[in-house]
Amino acid sequence: MKFLNMTGLALAATLSTQAASAEEKFITIGTGGQTGVYFVVGQSICRLVNRETEKTGLKCTAPSTGGSIANINAIKAGDMDMGVAQSDWQYHAYNGTSQFEGQKFDKLRAVFSVHGEPFTVVARADSGVNTFEDLFGKRVNVGNPGSGQRATMDVVLNAMGKSDKDFALASELKPAEQSAALGDNKVDAIIYTVGHPNGSIQEATSTVDAKLIPVTGEAIDKLVADNPYYAKAVIPGGLYNGTADDVETFGVKATFVTSADVPDDVVYTVVKAVFDNFDRFKGLHPAFANLKEEEMIKDGLSAPLHPGAEKYYKERGWIN
Ligand code: GLU
Repeated sequence: MKFLNMTGLALAATLSTQAASAEEKFITIGTGGQTGVYFVVGQSICRLVNRETEKTGLKCTAPSTGGSIANINAIKAGDMDMGVAQSDWQYHAYNGTSQFEGQKFDKLRAVFSVHGEPFTVVARADSGVNTFEDLFGKRVNVGNPGSGQRATMDVVLNAMGKSDKDFALASELKPAEQSAALGDNKVDAIIYTVGHPNGSIQEATSTVDAKLIPVTGEAIDKLVADNPYYAKAVIPGGLYNGTADDVETFGVKATFVTSADVPDDVVYTVVKAVFDNFDRFKGLHPAFANLKEEEMIKDGLSAPLHPGAEKYYKERGWIN
C-alpha cells in the first residue's frame, strides 16, 4: 500500500514537471541599437511580460538588432516572434512596395503603435551645415543597412533627385557608433529616425558642439502629402545642447508588429501585459509619457491587427 502511494506521488510529480515545461514558451522581440528607443520598447514589454511568467508560462527576451527592416525580415523568417518597426516600413513590407518590392510579407500583423519618430539630422557646429541641402558634399552617416533610418534616408534622397553618392562620404555606422564618430570628426552629420529625447542624440550633442537640422521643403511636403505613414513633425527645442528652438522635420510612428503565425494566446498575453500595466509602461521612457491607448491601436498601422491583439482590445471595449 505504501509502495503504491509513493508511485502515485512520483507519477504526479513527473506529470506536473512535464505540464510546466510543455506550457513554457519563449518569445523574442526585435529592437534596435542599445542607445535608441526601440531597445527600451522591447525591454519594457519583456519586463512586463516576465513579471507574469509564473502565471502565463511566457518568457520574453528583446536583444539589440539592426532596426526596422532587420526586425521585419527576422519575423518573416521565423527567427523572431515580434519586433518594432517604423510605420513606413510596416506599410511597405505588408504591401510589397519600395524596399520590399517583390517580397510582400502577407502574414505581417500589427499589434500597436508606440511613440512618434521624427527624422532627425544632427550636424557638427563647425561643419557649416544649416539645412538638409547643405549635407551634399559633406561626410554623412547614412546608417547601417537594416535600419529604418537608412531606408527612409534613401526615400528622402530619391525624392530630392539625389543619392548617397552626392555626399563626400556615406558611412554605414550603427546608431551606437555614430555619436562618437560625430564627436571624433569622422563625419559632419548623422541621421536617426528615433523618439525623443534619447541617449544617442544626447551623446552626440554633448560630446561636441552640434545642432539639429530642419528637414523641410517641397520634396518633403510631397512625401507627407502622398503617403499616409508620414506626417510633419517637430522636435521640441531645449531637449538637447545646441538646439534651443523647435526643429521642423517629418516623421513616422514606431510600431509593434508580429506574424500571423504567432499564436493568438501569445500575442494576447503580451498585449495584456502592456495595457493592464499601462502607467508603469509609460514611466519606462520619456518618449512614452504621452502615449494614448486609443491612438496606439490605430495610428500608423497598415497591416491588419493580429487576432490576439484584437481580442484584448475588444475585451476593453476599444474596438467592436
Ligand atoms: N527607427 C530606427 C529603425 O527603424 C530605430 C530607432 C530606435 O532604435 O529607437 O531602425
